[in-house]
Amino acid sequence: MAFQKQKIVLATNNQGKLRELQACFDGFQVDIIAQSKAGISPVDETGNSFLANAMQKAHHAASLSEHPVIADDSGLIVDSLDGMPGVYSARYAGVNSSDEENIDFLLKKMEGENERQARFHCCLIYLRSSQDKEPIIVTAEWNGMICDNQTGNKGFGYDSIFFVPELKLTAAELAVDVKNKYSHRGKANKTLVRELLKKNLILEN
Ligand code: IMP
Repeated sequence: MAFQKQKIVLATNNQGKLRELQACFDGFQVDIIAQSKAGISPVDETGNSFLANAMQKAHHAASLSEHPVIADDSGLIVDSLDGMPGVYSARYAGVNSSDEENIDFLLKKMEGENERQARFHCCLIYLRSSQDKEPIIVTAEWNGMICDNQTGNKGFGYDSIFFVPELKLTAAELAVDVKNKYSHRGKANKTLVRELLKKNLILEN
C-alpha cells in the first residue's frame, strides 16, 4: 500500500504565511493544504490577543476539516505605539487595507519618532480535531527596528520596514529559508515540529 503524506490544513488565506509554513515542513512527510483549497472560508477575528485569535481560527477550520489544523495568528508590536498594531496588524489602516496602506499608515504615525524598537509575535496552534482537548500551542518573537522607508521586495506585510540588526537587512531582503531561520513564525514552527515528532503526529522523510 502506498504511504500517504499526513495532510494538515493551514487555517489562513495569507499567501506569505502559507509559503513560509510550507517551507518549514520540507523534509517531513506532510502535505500542508491552504484552508481555501479545503473549501474553508476565513473566520472573523474578534479576539483581543494573538492566542484568542489563533484559537478562533483553529477551531473554525477544525470544525470543517477532516484533517488536523494549524492556525497562525501573528502581528507587529511597536514599543513607541504602545504595542500597536498588534492583533490589528492586518487591518491597521482599516478593514480590507492592503500591506502598502498599513505600512504608509504606520510610517506616518512614526514620523519624527526616535524610539524604533519593534517585534513580531507569532502564536501557532495545532489541533488534531475540533474535539482536541490538548491543543499544542507555541509562541515566538523576533526583535527588530522600524525603518523610515521601505527596502526589499520579498516577504509580505511589514517585512520591508522591519530592520533586523543582526543581519543588517530588512525582512523583505531575506529569502524564505533565511527568514525562517530568524523569524517569529520560523522559530515557532521549529518548536511545533519538535512537538509533533515527539508525539508521533508527523514523520521525517
Ligand atoms: P493575521 O492574519 O491576523 O495573523 O495578520 C497578521 C498580520 O501581521 C499580517 O497581515 C501582517 O500584516 C503582519 N505580519 C505577521 N507576520 C508577519 C511577517 O512575518 N512579516 C510581515 N508582516 C507580518
